[in-house]
Amino acid sequence: MKQKKIKKITQASKSTLAIHGLWNNPSWEFGHHLIPPLTASTTFRLQSLKRGAQGFLDFAHSSKNSENMSPILVYDRLAEPTTLMLEEQMAMLENAEIALSFGSGMGAITTSILAMVSKGQKVVAHRTLYGCTHSLLTHWLPKLGIESAQINMNDPKSLDEVLMDPHVRILYFESLSNPSLELIDIEPLVQKVKKANHGRKDDQRVLVIVDNTFPTPRGLRPVEWGADMVIQSLTKNISGFGTEMGGAIMTSKKYYNALSIARKDFGAVITPYAAWHILVYGISTQSLRYDQQTRTALKIAQFLEKHPKIEKVIYPGLKSFSGHKLAKKYLKNPEGQFSPGTMISFFVKGKMSTCEKFIDDVAKNSYAITLAVSLGLNKTLIEVPGYMTHSGIPEKDHKMTALDPRMIRISVGLESVEDLISDLSKALDRLKIKN
Ligand SMILES: *Cc1c(COP(=O)(O)O)cnc(C)c1O
Repeated sequence: MKQKKIKKITQASKSTLAIHGLWNNPSWEFGHHLIPPLTASTTFRLQSLKRGAQGFLDFAHSSKNSENMSPILVYDRLAEPTTLMLEEQMAMLENAEIALSFGSGMGAITTSILAMVSKGQKVVAHRTLYGCTHSLLTHWLPKLGIESAQINMNDPKSLDEVLMDPHVRILYFESLSNPSLELIDIEPLVQKVKKANHGRKDDQRVLVIVDNTFPTPRGLRPVEWGADMVIQSLTKNISGFGTEMGGAIMTSKKYYNALSIARKDFGAVITPYAAWHILVYGISTQSLRYDQQTRTALKIAQFLEKHPKIEKVIYPGLKSFSGHKLAKKYLKNPEGQFSPGTMISFFVKGKMSTCEKFIDDVAKNSYAITLAVSLGLNKTLIEVPGYMTHSGIPEKDHKMTALDPRMIRISVGLESVEDLISDLSKALDRLKIKN
């Protein structure tokens, strides 16, 4: 009977699973609640020394036998019921075997790297990265004796060169890069990594880690293309309302023990409060929000592209997008429809001073568009990455990282498309282009 029910549930679509989850999850301690209660217990009652000892013994020793049993909960930093439910949902969305949640996207990224590399090994990343990830690789890792380098992952020659180096342990990239929206051709990259891994020992195998925050699992699922680990900043579209921070790693079971010990010791755990909001409100509405925001983003990108005061628009849904073929291949929702996403980058004509005038005008006069960092929210946000989210990248690296300080980034929200276009249109009307 129980078996039958599980089977039936897992045949539902991702959007339905995102609303109901597996209500018979072994971490679910509240059989009669439709919505899980908001848990707030940092520690758990252990009925006997034997059970307490078993809890510690079981931790990070996941085995096939223990999978369908209720975990022995010991302490919040090890495991917690609401976060376990959040993790199960994240694994389901990304089509991964397991997920681990973290206090922020950066907590997830740092843990994924530090749990896997040793002194003397190297991390090679794509040239364009989120500013704090760039800082982690260039500032902190070298202090621990871990070298990092950045290449164009879509250049087969650079990739071949990197894969000849036996010290390279991690290839790291964003599936759709922040902020220049470059798509990485994951499939041939994974093929090359597989070849390079022939004969390498387990702790020297090259791992492919993909930050999938921009497309979200609604738009792309890197595990399906062979990525070893996938990162989400849950703070962005998964949470969706700008109230919670969180992060997650989605991967295969074999990395669970190492990652959960690293999380226990590094301590970047999510609070049950944040996990509850992301689980109850964020995940259950994410596909709906993402689809609507994507439809609006396409219309805004088309509007901008036609505007005489706009120099260039970067949006995967436009025919002019340089990676349009890759976009058609990778950016698909679980139902197989093209899903080019909620992020747009663009340039107004003229110098930096014109860009600044435009942004200040939007900040002052727009109603539906807000000058603020972060992304994926129900509110439309605009920013200039070179001076804000990516300001940690020194000017000398701008060329290498393909970061143009005049680039403007929009994260499209849930407002009506007419209101958003009206705000942009009015600001552009008022703008004087001087070269
Ligand atoms: C925001 C962001 C992060 C960091 O996530 P936090 O939750 O803010 O720590 C990582 N990668 C990308 C692509 C992001 O946009």
